[in-house]
Amino acid sequence: MIIPQAFKERMLRQLGLSESEKLFESLKAPPQSSLRLHPYKGKHLLAEMLARYEAIAWHPEAFYLDERPSFVADPHFHAGAYYVQEASSMLLYQAFEPRAGQVILDLCAAPGGKSTLLASAMAEGSLLIANEVVAKRASVLQETVGRWGEVGVVVCSSPPSHFARLKNSIDVLVIDAPCSGEGMFRKDDEALAQWSPDLIQSCALRQRQILVEVLPALKAGGTLIYSTCSYAPEEDEEIVTWLCEQGLEPHPLNLSTFGAYPVTIAKVSEAAHYCYPHRLKGEGFFIARLRKPRQPLAKGDQSLFDSKKASKPLAEQPYHDLVKDYLAQDYLESLRDFELVSHQQNLYLRPKVSDVLAKTHIRILQSGLELGKYLPKQHKAPEFRPSHQLAMSRGLNKDVEAYELSYEEAIAYLSKEELDHPPPQSFKTHPWLLARYQGSNLGWLKASQTRMNTYYPSNWRIRQKLS
Ligand code: SAM
Repeated sequence: MIIPQAFKERMLRQLGLSESEKLFESLKAPPQSSLRLHPYKGKHLLAEMLARYEAIAWHPEAFYLDERPSFVADPHFHAGAYYVQEASSMLLYQAFEPRAGQVILDLCAAPGGKSTLLASAMAEGSLLIANEVVAKRASVLQETVGRWGEVGVVVCSSPPSHFARLKNSIDVLVIDAPCSGEGMFRKDDEALAQWSPDLIQSCALRQRQILVEVLPALKAGGTLIYSTCSYAPEEDEEIVTWLCEQGLEPHPLNLSTFGAYPVTIAKVSEAAHYCYPHRLKGEGFFIARLRKPRQPLAKGDQSLFDSKKASKPLAEQPYHDLVKDYLAQDYLESLRDFELVSHQQNLYLRPKVSDVLAKTHIRILQSGLELGKYLPKQHKAPEFRPSHQLAMSRGLNKDVEAYELSYEEAIAYLSKEELDHPPPQSFKTHPWLLARYQGSNLGWLKASQTRMNTYYPSNWRIRQKLS
């Protein structure tokens, strides 16, 4: 790697000779691979991970890997049993303080690493709005969230300014800002090739603009978590100083306690932290936490999400009978303020408050889970075709019949190839079977008289030939 001279000079000024030499030395090493298990869907992998790998101290389900394996060739990855995430960025887990009923906005969310972390960490009755303004990247976000299988998430694709319409309504605002990416030099050749001092200045300008546009959405008393993968003070500390000038207050993190891997507290505030790869086992990262001061609410300043009307329990809602065999009873009972809604014969399980977003014309790509399609039949109960998102749900009923696949069959299934298998005896009463690989659900199979058909989303299929 050829490190740009201007970057070297900047880091020398920032860290001094000895520390900056250590940083440059650390950039010669390969990037450190790591992953985070899904707390429910990845449980069956936990014992093996604990036995084989070093746990990451700041997240209860995260591990460093010895080398970067081919995740595309691993069926558990496609099942959403884990997410491949860089270790430093999981410090978000320490900055996030989950409380029941929060509305969390992850404004710059693609490809979805932090959204999946938040979706698993958030407390009961919370809603996560995962937004990505760039359309192509928003579809990647949608896929990540779909694979993760948590119901309390709405995926949107709108510019930051549109979220100002949610005035005083967001409890936790996460801004993982687009940045110069200098913390990613080891991982991302493009970040290295595009880096320049001018890029830092233009990113800093854009970061302020994003913040100005979206801050009205944050509740008084609400938390802002701001992060970048840059070491540049213009994108980090100076933004924090400027946010404090705008009236936000530092909300210190307790991050310096990770023994062998110290996080560096920024000069300007104990609420701001740098992660350097020569000190902490991970890539370069900056994270800060601030709070909007509490103030007496003026008339009309109530959160838009404060709904007075509770929704009926799911068991009393229309369409419940169609899905009750697919989703576990205790899971359905645990969901408060969710609705079963149908649109053009598609059935959705979605957080009731997602209505609020629809009214603000924020562009929603996906709200909660798409459960499937029902086809009305004359004089008979409607036929129900379960969707892929339902197969990915962590609330899936354990009694749904599953078909265990070998590794080769699992890869064939994920490549959307047909399986050469006769259907099980039970196919007339239960034609829909889960394709399962070593405890991970991959999607649906539909059995007919002579064969089993693969129902895997075409756009998610493995396209490359795996040897
Ligand atoms: N949070 C993501 C994760 O953990 O997977 C990574 C986010 S990445 C650092 C920043 C994101 O901001 C990119 O997906 C980028 O497309 C998006 N972005 C770019 N320009 C933006 C803008 N003007 N406003 C909001 N988001 C923007």
